[in-house]
Amino acid sequence: VDESVVEDMRRLEESFKGISQKYRLINRIGEGTFSTVYKAEQLLQPHELDQENDEPMDESEAEMPPAKRRKTRRKPQIVALKKIYVTSSPHRIMNELELLHELRHSPYICPLLTAFRHLDQVVAVLPYFRHLDFRLYYREFLINDMRHYFRCLLHGLKHVHQAGILHRDIKPTNFLYDHSRRSGVLVDFGLAERQGTDWQPCLCQESSHKRRDRFMNSYAVQVLQSTQDLLSQNYPKNDSRPSRRANRAGTRGFRAPEVLFKCTSQTTKIDIWSAGVILLTLLARRFPFFNSADDVDAMIEMASIFGRRKMQSVAAMHGQVFETNIETIGERGFTFEKIILWASCQNRESDTLHLGEEQAVDFLHSLLELDPHKRWSAKELLQHPFFTAPVE
Ligand code: ADP
Ligand code: MG
Repeated sequence: VDESVVEDMRRLEESFKGISQKYRLINRIGEGTFSTVYKAEQLLQPHELDQENDEPMDESEAEMPPAKRRKTRRKPQIVALKKIYVTSSPHRIMNELELLHELRHSPYICPLLTAFRHLDQVVAVLPYFRHLDFRLYYREFLINDMRHYFRCLLHGLKHVHQAGILHRDIKPTNFLYDHSRRSGVLVDFGLAERQGTDWQPCLCQESSHKRRDRFMNSYAVQVLQSTQDLLSQNYPKNDSRPSRRANRAGTRGFRAPEVLFKCTSQTTKIDIWSAGVILLTLLARRFPFFNSADDVDAMIEMASIFGRRKMQSVAAMHGQVFETNIETIGERGFTFEKIILWASCQNRESDTLHLGEEQAVDFLHSLLELDPHKRWSAKELLQHPFFTAPVE
Protein backbone atom coordinates (compact mmCIF):
# COMPACT_ATOMS: atom_id res chain seq x y z
CA VAL A 1 0.00 0.00 0.00
CA ASP A 2 1.30 3.42 -1.05
CA GLU A 3 2.84 5.68 1.62
CA SER A 4 0.42 8.54 0.92
CA VAL A 5 -2.55 6.17 1.13
CA VAL A 6 -1.37 4.93 4.53
CA GLU A 7 -1.15 8.54 5.67
CA ASP A 8 -4.62 9.30 4.31
CA MET A 9 -6.08 6.25 6.10
CA ARG A 10 -4.36 7.23 9.34
CA ARG A 11 -5.92 10.70 9.11
CA LEU A 12 -9.37 9.21 8.66
CA GLU A 13 -8.90 6.89 11.67
CA GLU A 14 -7.69 9.79 13.76
CA SER A 15 -10.46 12.20 12.87
CA PHE A 16 -13.09 9.50 13.09
CA LYS A 17 -12.46 7.58 16.33
CA GLY A 18 -15.66 5.51 16.05
CA ILE A 19 -14.46 4.09 12.76
CA SER A 20 -11.11 2.74 13.98
CA GLN A 21 -12.80 0.87 16.83
CA LYS A 22 -15.05 -0.98 14.42
CA TYR A 23 -12.96 -1.31 11.26
CA ARG A 24 -9.38 -1.91 10.25
CA LEU A 25 -8.62 0.00 7.07
CA ILE A 26 -6.88 -2.10 4.43
CA ASN A 27 -6.55 0.08 1.36
CA ARG A 28 -7.99 2.96 -0.59
CA ILE A 29 -9.97 1.67 -3.55
CA GLY A 30 -11.66 4.68 -5.07
CA GLU A 31 -11.31 8.41 -5.21
CA GLY A 32 -13.95 10.52 -6.91
CA THR A 33 -15.32 14.03 -6.94
CA PHE A 34 -17.59 13.52 -3.99
CA SER A 35 -16.08 10.66 -2.05
CA THR A 36 -13.17 8.41 -1.21
CA VAL A 37 -13.78 4.70 -0.78
CA TYR A 38 -11.68 2.40 1.43
CA LYS A 39 -11.56 -1.35 1.78
CA ALA A 40 -11.75 -2.36 5.44
CA GLU A 41 -12.19 -5.33 7.72
CA GLN A 42 -14.97 -5.28 10.26
CA LEU A 43 -13.51 -5.95 13.72
CA LEU A 44 -15.20 -8.19 16.25
CA GLN A 45 -16.53 -6.16 19.17
CA PRO A 46 -15.61 -7.14 22.79
CA HIS A 47 -19.02 -8.69 23.46
CA GLU A 48 -18.78 -10.69 20.25
CA LEU A 49 -15.31 -12.00 21.19
CA ASP A 50 -16.66 -13.39 24.48
CA GLN A 51 -19.55 -15.05 22.82
CA GLU A 52 -17.69 -16.43 19.88
CA ASN A 53 -17.20 -19.90 21.31
CA ASP A 54 -20.48 -20.53 23.00
CA GLU A 55 -22.76 -18.80 20.55
CA PRO A 56 -25.41 -21.25 19.35
CA MET A 57 -24.89 -22.59 15.87
CA ASP A 58 -27.60 -22.28 13.30
CA GLU A 59 -28.83 -25.36 11.46
CA SER A 60 -26.64 -25.04 8.39
CA GLU A 61 -23.54 -24.55 10.49
CA ALA A 62 -24.29 -27.58 12.68
CA GLU A 63 -24.31 -29.76 9.58
CA MET A 64 -20.77 -28.74 8.63
CA PRO A 65 -17.66 -30.64 9.69
CA PRO A 66 -16.17 -28.88 12.80
CA ALA A 67 -13.07 -27.61 10.99
CA LYS A 68 -15.14 -25.80 8.42
CA ARG A 69 -17.51 -24.52 11.07
CA ARG A 70 -14.93 -22.40 12.79
CA LYS A 71 -13.63 -21.06 9.53
CA THR A 72 -16.98 -19.72 8.42
CA ARG A 73 -17.55 -18.18 11.84
CA ARG A 74 -14.19 -16.49 12.02
CA LYS A 75 -14.28 -15.10 8.51
CA PRO A 76 -14.09 -11.34 8.92
CA GLN A 77 -16.56 -9.30 6.97
CA ILE A 78 -14.88 -7.08 4.40
CA VAL A 79 -16.60 -3.78 3.82
CA ALA A 80 -16.28 -0.68 1.67
CA LEU A 81 -16.22 2.56 3.65
CA LYS A 82 -17.42 5.45 1.52
CA LYS A 83 -16.30 8.74 3.02
CA ILE A 84 -18.53 11.41 1.54
CA TYR A 85 -16.81 14.78 1.26
CA VAL A 86 -18.06 17.72 3.23
CA THR A 87 -18.25 19.64 -0.05
CA SER A 88 -21.26 17.50 -0.85
CA SER A 89 -24.31 19.20 0.64
CA PRO A 90 -26.03 17.64 3.70
CA HIS A 91 -29.14 17.34 1.58
CA ARG A 92 -27.25 15.34 -1.05
CA ILE A 93 -25.70 13.02 1.50
CA MET A 94 -29.07 12.42 3.12
CA ASN A 95 -30.60 11.75 -0.29
CA GLU A 96 -27.96 9.14 -1.18
CA LEU A 97 -28.33 7.28 2.13
CA GLU A 98 -32.11 7.42 2.00
CA LEU A 99 -32.35 6.03 -1.54
CA LEU A 100 -29.78 3.31 -0.81
CA HIS A 101 -31.80 2.26 2.21
CA GLU A 102 -34.99 2.20 0.19
CA LEU A 103 -33.41 0.04 -2.53
CA ARG A 104 -31.73 -2.45 -0.17
CA HIS A 105 -33.84 -5.47 -1.12
CA SER A 106 -32.37 -6.20 -4.53
CA PRO A 107 -29.38 -8.54 -4.93
CA TYR A 108 -28.29 -6.33 -7.84
CA ILE A 109 -27.85 -3.23 -5.69
CA CYS A 110 -25.07 -2.91 -3.14
CA PRO A 111 -26.92 -2.42 0.17
CA LEU A 112 -26.14 0.15 2.82
CA LEU A 113 -25.08 -1.67 6.02
CA THR A 114 -24.87 1.37 8.25
CA ALA A 115 -23.57 4.92 8.28
CA PHE A 116 -21.62 7.10 10.72
CA ARG A 117 -21.47 10.82 11.19
CA HIS A 118 -18.75 12.73 12.99
CA LEU A 119 -19.28 16.50 12.90
CA ASP A 120 -19.63 17.28 9.20
CA GLN A 121 -18.18 13.99 7.94
CA VAL A 122 -20.28 11.04 6.88
CA VAL A 123 -19.10 7.50 6.19
CA ALA A 124 -21.41 4.97 4.54
CA VAL A 125 -20.63 1.29 5.12
CA LEU A 126 -21.34 -1.19 2.31
CA PRO A 127 -20.42 -4.85 1.95
CA TYR A 128 -17.24 -5.10 -0.12
CA PHE A 129 -18.02 -6.39 -3.59
CA ARG A 130 -15.13 -8.01 -5.45
CA HIS A 131 -14.88 -6.71 -9.00
CA LEU A 132 -12.45 -5.96 -11.80
CA ASP A 133 -11.69 -2.60 -13.35
CA PHE A 134 -13.72 -2.30 -16.58
CA ARG A 135 -10.59 -1.23 -18.47
CA LEU A 136 -9.07 -4.63 -17.77
CA TYR A 137 -11.77 -6.70 -19.43
CA TYR A 138 -13.80 -4.64 -21.93
CA ARG A 139 -11.62 -5.67 -24.87
CA GLU A 140 -11.99 -9.38 -24.21
CA PHE A 141 -15.71 -9.50 -23.50
CA LEU A 142 -17.59 -12.06 -25.62
CA ILE A 143 -21.24 -11.62 -26.56
CA ASN A 144 -22.18 -14.14 -23.91
CA ASP A 145 -20.27 -12.17 -21.28
CA MET A 146 -22.30 -9.12 -22.34
CA ARG A 147 -25.48 -11.10 -21.73
CA HIS A 148 -24.48 -11.82 -18.14
CA TYR A 149 -23.31 -8.26 -17.57
CA PHE A 150 -26.49 -6.68 -18.92
CA ARG A 151 -28.79 -9.13 -17.23
CA CYS A 152 -27.39 -8.01 -13.85
CA LEU A 153 -27.30 -4.34 -14.77
CA LEU A 154 -30.87 -4.36 -16.08
CA HIS A 155 -32.20 -6.25 -13.06
CA GLY A 156 -30.61 -3.56 -10.91
CA LEU A 157 -32.10 -0.80 -13.04
CA LYS A 158 -35.50 -2.46 -13.07
CA HIS A 159 -35.55 -2.38 -9.28
CA VAL A 160 -34.41 1.26 -9.14
CA HIS A 161 -36.90 2.35 -11.80
CA GLN A 162 -39.82 0.47 -10.29
CA ALA A 163 -39.20 2.49 -7.14
CA GLY A 164 -39.58 5.61 -9.30
CA ILE A 165 -35.91 6.51 -8.94
CA LEU A 166 -33.42 7.69 -11.60
CA HIS A 167 -29.83 6.65 -10.94
CA ARG A 168 -28.51 9.42 -13.25
CA ASP A 169 -24.90 8.19 -13.32
CA ILE A 170 -24.84 4.79 -14.97
CA LYS A 171 -21.29 4.03 -16.19
CA PRO A 172 -18.77 1.24 -15.72
CA THR A 173 -17.30 2.53 -12.43
CA ASN A 174 -20.77 2.61 -10.85
CA PHE A 175 -21.63 -0.96 -11.76
CA LEU A 176 -19.28 -3.36 -10.01
CA TYR A 177 -18.97 -6.53 -12.02
CA ASP A 178 -17.25 -9.75 -11.07
CA HIS A 179 -16.42 -11.48 -14.34
CA SER A 180 -15.60 -14.83 -12.72
CA ARG A 181 -18.85 -15.05 -10.74
CA ARG A 182 -20.85 -13.38 -13.50
CA SER A 183 -22.53 -11.11 -11.02
CA GLY A 184 -22.71 -7.38 -10.57
CA VAL A 185 -24.16 -4.70 -8.33
CA LEU A 186 -25.11 -1.07 -8.81
CA VAL A 187 -23.39 1.46 -6.57
CA ASP A 188 -23.18 5.23 -6.20
CA PHE A 189 -26.58 6.81 -5.70
CA GLY A 190 -24.91 10.20 -5.17
CA LEU A 191 -26.76 11.76 -8.11
CA ALA A 192 -29.90 9.68 -7.92
CA GLU A 193 -33.28 11.35 -7.61
CA ARG A 194 -36.94 10.53 -7.53
CA GLN A 195 -38.61 10.86 -10.91
CA GLY A 196 -40.58 14.11 -10.93
CA THR A 197 -38.10 16.13 -8.86
CA ASP A 198 -37.81 19.56 -10.58
CA TRP A 199 -40.37 18.38 -13.09
CA GLN A 200 -41.64 20.94 -15.60
CA PRO A 201 -43.74 20.11 -18.63
CA CYS A 202 -41.53 19.59 -21.69
CA LEU A 203 -42.73 19.62 -25.28
CA CYS A 204 -41.86 15.92 -25.51
CA GLN A 205 -44.84 15.11 -23.29
CA GLU A 206 -47.30 16.19 -25.98
CA SER A 207 -48.58 14.31 -29.01
CA SER A 208 -46.44 14.72 -32.13
CA HIS A 209 -49.09 16.86 -33.93
CA LYS A 210 -49.50 19.32 -31.12
CA ARG A 211 -45.77 19.29 -30.71
CA ARG A 212 -45.12 20.33 -34.31
CA ASP A 213 -47.53 23.29 -34.15
CA ARG A 214 -46.16 24.47 -30.84
CA PHE A 215 -42.62 24.03 -32.09
CA MET A 216 -43.10 26.07 -35.25
CA ASN A 217 -44.36 28.96 -33.13
CA SER A 218 -41.68 28.55 -30.51
CA TYR A 219 -39.17 31.10 -29.40
CA ALA A 220 -36.33 28.81 -30.46
CA VAL A 221 -37.45 28.71 -34.07
CA GLN A 222 -37.89 32.48 -34.15
CA VAL A 223 -34.41 32.92 -32.77
CA LEU A 224 -33.03 30.56 -35.39
CA GLN A 225 -34.70 32.48 -38.17
CA SER A 226 -33.38 35.79 -36.95
CA THR A 227 -29.81 34.92 -36.10
CA GLN A 228 -26.80 34.06 -38.16
CA ASP A 229 -25.03 32.73 -35.10
CA LEU A 230 -25.78 29.11 -35.62
CA LEU A 231 -24.86 29.20 -39.26
CA SER A 232 -21.47 30.83 -38.77
CA GLN A 233 -18.24 28.82 -38.84
CA ASN A 234 -17.87 28.58 -35.07
CA TYR A 235 -20.80 27.31 -33.14
CA PRO A 236 -21.71 29.62 -30.26
CA LYS A 237 -20.38 28.22 -27.03
CA ASN A 238 -21.07 31.39 -25.11
CA ASP A 239 -24.66 31.73 -26.00
CA SER A 240 -26.20 34.82 -24.46
CA ARG A 241 -29.81 33.82 -25.05
CA PRO A 242 -31.75 32.96 -21.90
CA SER A 243 -31.26 29.28 -21.22
CA ARG A 244 -33.66 26.71 -19.96
CA ARG A 245 -32.90 25.06 -16.67
CA ALA A 246 -32.86 21.30 -16.56
CA ASN A 247 -31.02 18.72 -14.50
CA ARG A 248 -27.87 17.69 -16.34
CA ALA A 249 -26.19 15.74 -13.55
CA GLY A 250 -24.28 12.75 -14.84
CA THR A 251 -20.99 11.91 -16.50
CA ARG A 252 -19.87 13.21 -19.87
CA GLY A 253 -20.13 10.66 -22.60
CA PHE A 254 -23.02 8.90 -20.85
CA ARG A 255 -25.67 11.66 -20.96
CA ALA A 256 -28.86 10.86 -22.85
CA PRO A 257 -29.92 13.13 -25.73
CA GLU A 258 -32.85 14.50 -23.68
CA VAL A 259 -30.38 15.54 -20.96
CA LEU A 260 -28.26 17.36 -23.58
CA PHE A 261 -31.37 18.99 -25.03
CA LYS A 262 -32.39 20.16 -21.55
CA CYS A 263 -35.62 18.22 -21.35
CA THR A 264 -37.41 19.33 -18.18
CA SER A 265 -39.33 16.11 -17.71
CA GLN A 266 -36.55 13.51 -17.74
CA THR A 267 -37.47 9.95 -16.91
CA THR A 268 -35.80 6.69 -15.87
CA LYS A 269 -35.06 6.17 -19.59
CA ILE A 270 -31.95 8.34 -19.21
CA ASP A 271 -30.32 5.41 -17.36
CA ILE A 272 -31.16 3.05 -20.23
CA TRP A 273 -29.32 5.33 -22.65
CA SER A 274 -26.23 5.27 -20.43
CA ALA A 275 -26.41 1.46 -20.29
CA GLY A 276 -26.55 1.56 -24.09
CA VAL A 277 -23.32 3.57 -24.17
CA ILE A 278 -21.67 0.79 -22.13
CA LEU A 279 -22.92 -1.82 -24.61
CA LEU A 280 -21.64 0.18 -27.58
CA THR A 281 -18.28 0.49 -25.80
CA LEU A 282 -18.10 -3.29 -25.36
CA LEU A 283 -19.13 -4.05 -28.94
CA ALA A 284 -16.77 -1.47 -30.48
CA ARG A 285 -14.01 -2.28 -27.95
CA ARG A 286 -13.33 1.45 -27.53
CA PHE A 287 -13.29 3.13 -24.14
CA PRO A 288 -14.30 5.82 -23.59
CA PHE A 289 -16.48 5.67 -26.66
CA PHE A 290 -17.76 9.23 -26.39
CA ASN A 291 -15.21 11.69 -25.14
CA SER A 292 -16.62 15.19 -25.39
CA ALA A 293 -15.58 18.05 -23.13
CA ASP A 294 -19.01 19.67 -23.00
CA ASP A 295 -22.63 19.23 -24.01
CA VAL A 296 -22.29 20.91 -27.40
CA ASP A 297 -19.40 18.60 -28.33
CA ALA A 298 -21.44 15.69 -27.02
CA MET A 299 -24.27 16.60 -29.41
CA ILE A 300 -21.78 16.72 -32.29
CA GLU A 301 -20.43 13.28 -31.41
CA MET A 302 -23.95 11.95 -31.24
CA ALA A 303 -24.87 13.63 -34.53
CA SER A 304 -21.92 12.11 -36.34
CA ILE A 305 -23.37 8.69 -35.56
CA PHE A 306 -27.10 9.29 -35.79
CA GLY A 307 -27.01 11.90 -38.53
CA ARG A 308 -28.35 15.42 -38.75
CA ARG A 309 -31.93 14.50 -39.54
CA LYS A 310 -32.56 12.37 -36.48
CA MET A 311 -30.78 14.85 -34.21
CA GLN A 312 -32.96 17.67 -35.49
CA SER A 313 -36.11 15.71 -34.91
CA VAL A 314 -35.14 14.76 -31.36
CA ALA A 315 -34.12 18.36 -30.59
CA ALA A 316 -37.49 19.58 -31.87
CA MET A 317 -39.20 17.00 -29.70
CA HIS A 318 -37.83 18.85 -26.65
CA GLY A 319 -38.49 22.29 -28.14
CA GLN A 320 -34.89 22.89 -29.16
CA VAL A 321 -33.16 23.51 -32.46
CA PHE A 322 -30.18 21.54 -33.69
CA GLU A 323 -28.27 23.13 -36.54
CA THR A 324 -24.71 22.51 -37.69
CA ASN A 325 -22.52 23.14 -40.70
CA ILE A 326 -19.85 20.64 -39.73
CA GLU A 327 -19.24 18.77 -42.94
CA THR A 328 -18.45 15.40 -41.43
CA ILE A 329 -21.96 15.20 -39.99
CA GLY A 330 -24.01 13.47 -42.60
CA GLU A 331 -27.73 13.68 -43.19
CA ARG A 332 -28.31 10.08 -42.15
CA GLY A 333 -25.33 9.07 -40.06
CA PHE A 334 -24.04 5.51 -39.85
CA THR A 335 -25.42 2.18 -38.77
CA PHE A 336 -24.19 0.60 -35.54
CA GLU A 337 -22.95 -2.34 -37.63
CA LYS A 338 -20.64 -0.04 -39.59
CA ILE A 339 -19.35 1.68 -36.49
CA ILE A 340 -18.63 -1.58 -34.72
CA LEU A 341 -16.89 -3.01 -37.79
CA TRP A 342 -14.74 0.10 -38.20
CA ALA A 343 -13.86 0.37 -34.54
CA SER A 344 -12.85 -3.26 -34.21
CA CYS A 345 -11.49 -3.86 -37.72
CA GLN A 346 -7.91 -4.72 -36.75
CA ASN A 347 -8.86 -7.82 -34.84
CA ARG A 348 -11.43 -9.55 -36.98
CA GLU A 349 -11.22 -11.97 -39.86
CA SER A 350 -14.41 -11.20 -41.76
CA ASP A 351 -16.00 -7.89 -42.68
CA THR A 352 -19.44 -8.81 -41.41
CA LEU A 353 -20.79 -9.21 -37.90
CA HIS A 354 -21.33 -12.72 -36.62
CA LEU A 355 -24.75 -13.92 -35.50
CA GLY A 356 -24.28 -13.14 -31.81
CA GLU A 357 -23.07 -9.64 -32.62
CA GLU A 358 -26.04 -9.04 -34.88
CA GLN A 359 -28.36 -9.97 -32.07
CA ALA A 360 -26.45 -7.67 -29.71
CA VAL A 361 -26.78 -4.83 -32.24
CA ASP A 362 -30.52 -5.44 -32.44
CA PHE A 363 -30.59 -5.21 -28.64
CA LEU A 364 -28.44 -2.06 -28.77
CA HIS A 365 -31.09 -0.37 -30.95
CA SER A 366 -33.57 -0.72 -28.09
CA LEU A 367 -31.22 1.06 -25.66
CA LEU A 368 -29.55 3.73 -27.81
CA GLU A 369 -32.83 5.07 -29.16
CA LEU A 370 -32.84 8.87 -29.36
CA ASP A 371 -36.54 9.17 -28.54
CA PRO A 372 -37.02 8.30 -24.84
CA HIS A 373 -40.60 7.20 -25.54
CA LYS A 374 -39.42 4.55 -27.98
CA ARG A 375 -36.44 3.49 -25.87
CA TRP A 376 -37.23 0.26 -24.03
CA SER A 377 -37.58 0.04 -20.25
CA ALA A 378 -35.36 -2.24 -18.15
CA LYS A 379 -38.30 -4.60 -17.67
CA GLU A 380 -38.96 -4.81 -21.41
CA LEU A 381 -35.27 -5.24 -22.21
CA LEU A 382 -35.05 -8.28 -19.94
CA GLN A 383 -37.63 -9.91 -22.27
CA HIS A 384 -35.58 -9.12 -25.40
CA PRO A 385 -34.53 -12.11 -27.58
CA PHE A 386 -30.93 -11.20 -26.67
CA PHE A 387 -31.75 -12.87 -23.34
CA THR A 388 -34.72 -15.10 -24.13
CA ALA A 389 -33.47 -16.62 -27.42
CA PRO A 390 -29.70 -16.19 -27.43
CA VAL A 391 -27.77 -17.06 -30.59
CA GLU A 392 -24.02 -17.33 -30.95
P1 ADP B 1 -18.06 8.19 -6.09
O1 ADP B 1 -19.27 9.00 -5.75
O2 ADP B 1 -16.80 8.77 -5.56
O3 ADP B 1 -17.97 7.86 -7.54
P2 ADP B 1 -18.71 5.35 -5.69
O4 ADP B 1 -19.79 4.91 -4.77
O5 ADP B 1 -18.97 5.27 -7.14
O6 ADP B 1 -18.24 6.82 -5.27
O7 ADP B 1 -17.39 4.51 -5.38
C1 ADP B 1 -16.17 4.79 -6.04
C2 ADP B 1 -15.43 3.51 -6.36
O8 ADP B 1 -15.15 2.79 -5.15
C3 ADP B 1 -16.21 2.52 -7.23
O9 ADP B 1 -16.05 2.79 -8.59
C4 ADP B 1 -15.59 1.19 -6.83
O10 ADP B 1 -14.37 0.97 -7.52
C5 ADP B 1 -15.29 1.39 -5.35
N1 ADP B 1 -16.41 0.87 -4.54
C6 ADP B 1 -17.52 1.54 -4.15
N2 ADP B 1 -18.34 0.77 -3.44
C7 ADP B 1 -17.76 -0.45 -3.37
C8 ADP B 1 -18.13 -1.73 -2.79
N3 ADP B 1 -19.24 -1.88 -2.10
N4 ADP B 1 -17.27 -2.76 -2.95
C9 ADP B 1 -16.12 -2.61 -3.63
N5 ADP B 1 -15.72 -1.47 -4.18
C10 ADP B 1 -16.53 -0.39 -4.08
MG1 MG C 1 -18.99 6.60 -8.76
